[in-house]
Amino acid sequence: MAKIAVLDRKCTGCGACASACPFGAIDMKEGRPEMNAACRVCGICVKACPQKAILRLETKTASVDKTQWRDILVFAEISGGRLHPVSLELIGKARELAAGVGYQVKALLIGSEAEPFAQELRHWGVSQIAVYDDPALGYFRADAYAACAEDYIKYAKPSVVLVGATSLGRSLAPRLATRFHTGLTADCTRLELRENTDLVQIRPAFGGNIMAQIITTNTRPQFATVRYKVMNAPARSEAAAGEILRRKLPAGVAASPVTCVSVTPIPPKRSISDAEILVVGGRGLQKEADLDMIRELASLLGGDWAVSRPLVEKGWATNDRQIGLSGRTVRPRLIITCGVSGAIQFTSCMNARDHIVSINTDPDAPIFGVAHVAIVEDLYTVVPQLIRRLKEEAK
Ligand SMILES: Cc1cc2nc3c(=O)[nH]c(=O)nc-3n(C[C@H](O)[C@H](O)[C@H](O)COP(=O)(O)OP(=O)(O)OC[C@H]3O[C@@H](n4cnc5c(N)ncnc54)[C@H](O)[C@@H]3O)c2cc1C
Repeated sequence: MAKIAVLDRKCTGCGACASACPFGAIDMKEGRPEMNAACRVCGICVKACPQKAILRLETKTASVDKTQWRDILVFAEISGGRLHPVSLELIGKARELAAGVGYQVKALLIGSEAEPFAQELRHWGVSQIAVYDDPALGYFRADAYAACAEDYIKYAKPSVVLVGATSLGRSLAPRLATRFHTGLTADCTRLELRENTDLVQIRPAFGGNIMAQIITTNTRPQFATVRYKVMNAPARSEAAAGEILRRKLPAGVAASPVTCVSVTPIPPKRSISDAEILVVGGRGLQKEADLDMIRELASLLGGDWAVSRPLVEKGWATNDRQIGLSGRTVRPRLIITCGVSGAIQFTSCMNARDHIVSINTDPDAPIFGVAHVAIVEDLYTVVPQLIRRLKEEAK
């Protein structure tokens, strides 16, 4: 860490620093320079000052004792009367990561009448389930949930905290990271754990042009959120194991200034994220009407249809049908892409459990790098043939 300091006794208030700053980060106040929030600590002002009155000071960052923080905590979200599946996927990933460094996996459950969910979590391979169960926690209130999570994290000192990138998780995780003055990486697509327990949080960055590896080197815990359907859920075990730790509500939580007056659930909509079979149309489609054959193929296969972003931009489909960074993440059993090139912004959110079949006229299309079955052919030839064949078989 570095900061800029001004030596008052040397500064003449000439303003050379303010003129030289390319970021407009120096305000002259009462004849003295003051750095504002735009300061990048680049040091140009240091060189520009004729009086040598400006210094760039290196400050040593205090590093946490990593051995004091261990295990992986997964926030187990209760959503619509069930455990959100992303929490189970995260438990699966956490178990994989934990095995490499001898950690245990713990779960944190916050809600009202949470006992059945705690019992269910005993079937998913966690060693401890911490439960905050109170009528005051029946609806998500960010302050109350954050206070409970903070209370347990201070008690258990997990090295890593994984949270689903749901609406609730996206609200909770940053609050917690701020409370612990530590790092949070949102929407990770891959996670790895180094021997020294640094979590490598991998996600697309700069508009998806690079896969960034983000590490929280000096602080603990390490917070990461992951979207639904990015990781694999483990198989549920018939045997129940894992201790249930019933925690007392931290003081003041029940008397939060936030009161939930009523909750109107949005009627559940079928999402492409839940589809087991998906047929996807890309810019290889020439006109909107040609989406009909994509829909027909999807329907004959008993699946759903989706699109790449250009088709949403053309107004041919709504955003909830779009796969990709700025759309949905999908993980069907079978996915058939038709006229999709395979840009990273698309493929980073498209995972198939069993088969990715891609139809593209360009043999060098990047989609073939991830496809299990590559069909180098015109989609206008292949898709109608598939439809005909499926109809014949259905007779
Ligand atoms: C910040 C950011 C976020 C983004 N988010 C998303 C996102 O969420 N989802 C997304 O999809 N994109 C996203 N993009 C855009 C992305 O970079 C690509 O531009 C987009 O995915 C390309 O869509 P496409 O493959 O359908 O089209 P193209 O790249 O144009 O590919 C069309 C393909 O069709 C093939 N083709 C043409 N005719 C035929 C035919 N008759 N038969 C078979 N194949 C044919 C071509 O060979 C080509 O490979 C994002 C970009 C940015 C910068």
